Amino acid sequence: MNKTDLEKYKAMLEAKRAELSVGLRNRDDIAIEKTPDALDEVQLAGERELAIRNLDRESNLLRNVKGALARVADGSYGTCLHCEEQIKPKRLDAVPWAKYCIRCQEAADRHEFETESGETFDELLANAA
Ligand SMILES: [Zn+2]
Repeated sequence: MNKTDLEKYKAMLEAKRAELSVGLRNRDDIAIEKTPDALDEVQLAGERELAIRNLDRESNLLRNVKGALARVADGSYGTCLHCEEQIKPKRLDAVPWAKYCIRCQEAADRHEFETESGETFDELLANAA
């Protein structure tokens, strides 16, 4: 990968990291609010659960983003962690924190080999927006 591309992905990753760090600081959503209304209780519990799930996904994503930045730093960025082929630029444009090439990611989604966090490609794409 040339230096210009590497700088581009690094900037994308740093922006994402900043965005996620802000999001993860806003944990007020999870504060337990007491309300006398039973219906509100149910709704609040649902919102809390959603907030926790989002937080989960975001901290997982943040870990991936940080991992990618570490690979930028050590020069291995853009290389599939499984088969060591180059990851296609189109994929990195969509998912700059991608750890695997598309073929290995699909294999990982089918649990054909062990990944460290177990996230699926769909989740990564959903987070790419
Ligand atoms: Zn691969």
